[in-house]
Amino acid sequence: MNKLIVANWKMNPSSESEAIQLAKASDEKGVVVCPPFPFLGAVKNALRKADLGAQDVFWQNPIPGGAFTGEVSISMLKKIGASYVILGHSERRNYLGETDEIINQKVKSALAFGLKVILCVGESLSTRREGLSQAESFVKNQITKDLKGIPSSVISSKSLVIAYEPIWAIGTGKADKPEDSASMAAYIKDFLKPKTSNLKPNVLYGGSVTSLNAARIFEHQEIDGALVGGASLKTEEFKKIIKIASK
Ligand code: PEP
Repeated sequence: MNKLIVANWKMNPSSESEAIQLAKASDEKGVVVCPPFPFLGAVKNALRKADLGAQDVFWQNPIPGGAFTGEVSISMLKKIGASYVILGHSERRNYLGETDEIINQKVKSALAFGLKVILCVGESLSTRREGLSQAESFVKNQITKDLKGIPSSVISSKSLVIAYEPIWAIGTGKADKPEDSASMAAYIKDFLKPKTSNLKPNVLYGGSVTSLNAARIFEHQEIDGALVGGASLKTEEFKKIIKIASK
C-alpha cells in the first residue's frame, strides 16, 4: 500500500476480545493500529502485518522506571511491540492541557529512543474561517514549536509523520475539502523542506475520513495517507478505506 493508514481507536473498544477482533480485521501492511494502553499487548499478538502504535507516551524515558504516577514510558511501549506513537492530538491539547512545550519534549524523547512519531497539528474553526493562509500560519507555528531543537537529520528520516487534522473536522462528519488538505500538506512539506534535505516527511490527513470520501482524499499525491478515528472502529468500513488506499 502506498498510503499509510493510522487507526486511532481513542478510548475504545470496551473489551479486550473486541480489540482483538478489530485488530484482526485491520491487519494489513501499511496500517498502524493504535489501541488504548491496556489492549496493546493483546492487539500486538493479533497483528501479523500491521504495525502497533500507542496514543501517548511520557516525555522522558526513565529506565528502568520512575516516580511518574499514571505514565507509560517509551521503553515500555517498545517492549510491548509498539513502533509508533501519536503525539499532539487535539483532544489532548484541548482537554488535557498538553502544550506545544510538552509535546516537543515527547516528540524529542520518542524519536531519540526509537519510536516513530505521528505528530498531529491543525487549526480551530475560527482560525480556518479567517482563511487558508491563517490556518497555514497556525499549523506552521505549531510544527515549529513541536519540532524545536530536533535535528534535521531526524526530521528527514521516515521516523516522523505529520497528521494534518483540522480540529473542526475531527469526529464531526464534516471532512475538509480534499483540495484544501492537499494544499495544506504541500505547504507543510515545503515549509519543512529546508530542514529535511529534500526528503519530505509523510503528511496524513485526519478528520471524518470514511469510505465515501477516502478516494477523493487519496487521489491527491501530497496526502500520504490518513489518520482515521471513528471509522477505524467499524470493521467493514475500515476495510473499505484500506482497500481504497491500496489502489
Ligand atoms: C482522530 O481521531 O484524530 C480523527 C480524525 O477522528 P475521526 O476520523 O473520527 O474524525
